Amino acid sequence: MHVLVLGAGVTGVTTAWYLARAGFEVSVVDRQPEAALETSYANGGQISISHPEPWANPAAPLNALRWFGREDAPLLFRPHADPAQWAWTLAFLRECLPHRARRNTAAIASLAVHSGERLRALRAETGIAYDHLERGILHLFFTPQEFARVGAKVAELATYGIQARSCSRDECLAIEPALAGTAGELAGGLYAPNDESGDAFRFTQALAERAAQAGVRFHYNTTITRIDHSGGRMNGIEVHDAEGRNGGLTAAAYVLCLGSYSRPLVAPLGEQLPIYPVKGYSVTVPLRDPQRAPSVSLTDESRRIVCSRLGDRLRVAGTAELNGYNTEINLARCQAILDWLEARFPDVTDTAGAHLWAGLRPATPGNVPLIGRSRLPNLWYNTGHGTLGWTLACGSASCLADLMSGRRAPVPHFPFLGNEA
Ligand SMILES: Cc1cc2nc3c(=O)[nH]c(=O)nc-3n(C[C@H](O)[C@H](O)[C@H](O)COP(=O)(O)OP(=O)(O)OC[C@H]3O[C@@H](n4cnc5c(N)ncnc54)[C@H](O)[C@@H]3O)c2cc1C
Repeated sequence: MHVLVLGAGVTGVTTAWYLARAGFEVSVVDRQPEAALETSYANGGQISISHPEPWANPAAPLNALRWFGREDAPLLFRPHADPAQWAWTLAFLRECLPHRARRNTAAIASLAVHSGERLRALRAETGIAYDHLERGILHLFFTPQEFARVGAKVAELATYGIQARSCSRDECLAIEPALAGTAGELAGGLYAPNDESGDAFRFTQALAERAAQAGVRFHYNTTITRIDHSGGRMNGIEVHDAEGRNGGLTAAAYVLCLGSYSRPLVAPLGEQLPIYPVKGYSVTVPLRDPQRAPSVSLTDESRRIVCSRLGDRLRVAGTAELNGYNTEINLARCQAILDWLEARFPDVTDTAGAHLWAGLRPATPGNVPLIGRSRLPNLWYNTGHGTLGWTLACGSASCLADLMSGRRAPVPHFPFLGNEA
């Protein structure tokens, strides 16, 4: 059966890979000239299995109020006259209810654990290189109040089969000696030794190359302008290529992996996907002094900033902004990230050579991605991965390939869409 995957970000390329491995004939279409040039381009680099808790949690509304109006706030709401933005925000507030946050956390955790296993297997099978490190993630807490909750977090993670431990300041320093300069401010940490880090862009490009060698066809520079449908089925997609030609592509089945652009494309089919773009920023800086740079991936829980070593570069990412499809770089928000970097690791990086980037997380209100069959029998979804698309990519894609093959996906606690076997 021929399957057309719409989108060549990390989600689309992993989907193409696992579908091809399952015996499907696969093509991929993307408007960019190469894979992973949009949100999968410069994310925080974390395979963060130890952070299944969504932004929509009981503490979020109070935090958002605390940060309201601050240009450098970790979470910034820029109101638009856009019903989709308001509907998403209301849905987000609903997902902050304790029982919903618990259910979403459990779903994400079970998919994340499975995804970590699939990523390791894929790496062993293909040997692809993407500046990855298997040194774990160290979550840092800078206030005693936040650190006081670590014991409960460790216990909760254990119920999902995620290994983590609480660390004193000295233990944090032993795990990552590059923190010596900020140790005085540190209250403590949570260390998840099985987490990883790596460059999602390099991974996706390398996997796309392997997939092409295995027979997957890639149609780059091809923008999908409309979905052609009738009688409750998809008939094909209308496309526009870089030479200005209009055309069409057809297949027996279609998988939507368009990230933040998924919702508008399927809205004419009557599908109301609860996905809204949540903008984030990253800065990537060359290392001046590699010996003093961290190699354990870090999450500053107080500032919502993550930091990953990618070869001879350091990637620092964070902030969330509800501002529609705007991808302009706001210098104040990037400066907040650069200030964090200089304060934590002074003179370790060459900040003058910083590459500033903004991307749109395809966020569902509860951060649970949409995976499975749509209401149309030949349209499937693998989209809406929000803050964890890199972490969840291999698990989501391999589960989708299972479902499309008529098998049960091996993640019992995840709410896959449709009525799969
Ligand atoms: C600042 C930041 C930090 C992050 N850090 C992490 C992290 O540390 N760990 C983690 O797990 N996740 C992280 N994420 C989230 C992760 O990057 C995303 O969830 C993931 O990249 C989404 O991948 P995707 O393939 O679904 O979307 P995308 O990468 O956006 O891919 C969608 C593709 O669809 C194509 N497309 C869109 N519309 C059309 C059209 N009309 N026609 C043709 N093609 C089209 C685009 O060109 C694009 O290639 C972060 C995100 C941000 C913004």
